[in-house]
Amino acid sequence: MATCEVCGNDYWMAFEVRTVSGDVHTFDSFECAIHKMAPICEHCQIKIVGHGVEVSGRFFCCAHCARAEEGEQGAQVRDAVGARPAS
Ligand SMILES: [Zn+2]
Ligand SMILES: [Zn+2]
Repeated sequence: MATCEVCGNDYWMAFEVRTVSGDVHTFDSFECAIHKMAPICEHCQIKIVGHGVEVSGRFFCCAHCARAEEGEQGAQVRDAVGARPAS
C-alpha cells in the first residue's frame, strides 16, 4: 500500500512517477498526478496533459498559444507535421 501525496488516499494500486531530476512521486490516480506535476500553459493557464509545446523554455498547450506569446520562434510552431489532406 502507498499513500497519494496529493489527496492522502492509501490505495493498493498507487503508482510512482520518476522525474528527470530523480525525484519520485506517489499518486493514487492520474488525476492527482496531473494536479501535482503537469505544466501549465503560459498563455491560457490550462494544465498541459498532452505533449504540449516548448518554446525557449516556456510551455504551452498548443501551437496557437505558443504563437500568441513567443514572437519569431512561436510563429514556427505547428500542431501537426505534414500537409493538410486535400479535400
Ligand atoms: Zn490522490
Ligand atoms: Zn494554452
